[in-house]
Amino acid sequence: MSCTGHNILSRISLECRECKRVYGTEFRYVCEECFGPLDVRYDDLPRLEPSLFEGRAQTYWRYRELLPIADATNIISIGAGMTPLHRAERLGEELGLKNLYIKNDSVNPTFSFKDRPAGVAVSKAREFGMSKVGCASTGNLASATAAHAAKGGMSCHVFAPSNIEMAKIAQALSYGANYIAVNGTYDDANRMAALAGDRQNIGVVNINMRSYYVEGSKTLAFEVAEQLGWNVPDHLVVPVGSGAMLNAICKGFEELQSASLLGDVSQMKVSAAQPHGCAPVVSAFKQGSQIVTPVEIPDTVAKSLAIGDPGDGRYVLRRLRQYGGTAEETSDEEILDAILLLARTEGIFTEPAGGVSIATLQKMIEDGRVDAGDTVVCYVTGNGLKATEAIMRVLKKPETVEADARAILAEVAS
Ligand SMILES: *Cc1c(COP(=O)(O)O)cnc(C)c1O
Ligand SMILES: [Zn+2]
Repeated sequence: MSCTGHNILSRISLECRECKRVYGTEFRYVCEECFGPLDVRYDDLPRLEPSLFEGRAQTYWRYRELLPIADATNIISIGAGMTPLHRAERLGEELGLKNLYIKNDSVNPTFSFKDRPAGVAVSKAREFGMSKVGCASTGNLASATAAHAAKGGMSCHVFAPSNIEMAKIAQALSYGANYIAVNGTYDDANRMAALAGDRQNIGVVNINMRSYYVEGSKTLAFEVAEQLGWNVPDHLVVPVGSGAMLNAICKGFEELQSASLLGDVSQMKVSAAQPHGCAPVVSAFKQGSQIVTPVEIPDTVAKSLAIGDPGDGRYVLRRLRQYGGTAEETSDEEILDAILLLARTEGIFTEPAGGVSIATLQKMIEDGRVDAGDTVVCYVTGNGLKATEAIMRVLKKPETVEADARAILAEVAS
């Protein structure tokens, strides 16, 4: 990609999310003092003007001042980001909302939002001089990492539970990834990926590159803010697997406020959506607990969210408290119904994770947690074509009709 040689304005460092100890940007991913996760901090961030972004490429790299790549020649772009913020009038009318927006990340190059975190982490791995990358994946991250590795000419090793959707496996294999189907859950795949990363010097995007990985997901905040004319929405609904995305979106809004691109973001509400068969964060939230008890064997149609032991779960709980949001879980049936509702009102076809967001929003409206006039942004993070087996369960398989005028016209009339 041509990244017209603007210099990166701010210096970065790493800061422990727990004890706040600050580190330089050498390769490191947990705090030496307390084993807390490390977050990227932008030091001396100047005031940024909206006009800075005008005329830039329609990808998330347009926000490079707020992304952690020091040398722009290390950026590996497959053109992800700047997905539509879709004004959902028909769905809004159905649900009783006047200002509903869908952030439609199902149309990224690999068809999920994971192009954001994966692209930043793979680029940073290149900046660290690594030649191998990888990930632990519930399906979508495998393709996003593999596609960016392919574009960067790097090798890619993906670790995923063996029960994920066939379309996701076909996609990742096509990009040339070494696909390791682990006989176990996502948490098992995650442990195997951590081990391989340590022993083989692999930049595992969501483990040893996690500080940079989460930076990519922040662009889901940046784009929404820009697409709303640099205004703060009233309420966000975000699907939660590991919780990295929800936490990163909050960080993103806060950085826009620090850079004077947005006013006060503290009145915005942020809510979490999980599927019933894997809802450890929702359970903790409803019990008023600060501790997330892992779900041992997730069982849900929303495979992308089937993370029993979410790495950022406790930070999601903090964010929900900070932003006065709520958390809801939805059944497989509600998820599949919501997929069809979104498709039939707005022409957007999402995988079950997106159905979880929509179904959760429905529940929140029923419980009176959203006002009719609120500006609500619902994140739809993956594409329906990746999960057709599951969605077909609630659809009628078309019967074959003879290629005969009378038979065909009878079908059209019925
Ligand atoms: C990974 C994924 C999520 C969850 O993101 P986390 O950062 O793990 O919480 C949501 N939707 C889709 C489509 C995903 O692939
Ligand atoms: Zn620490």
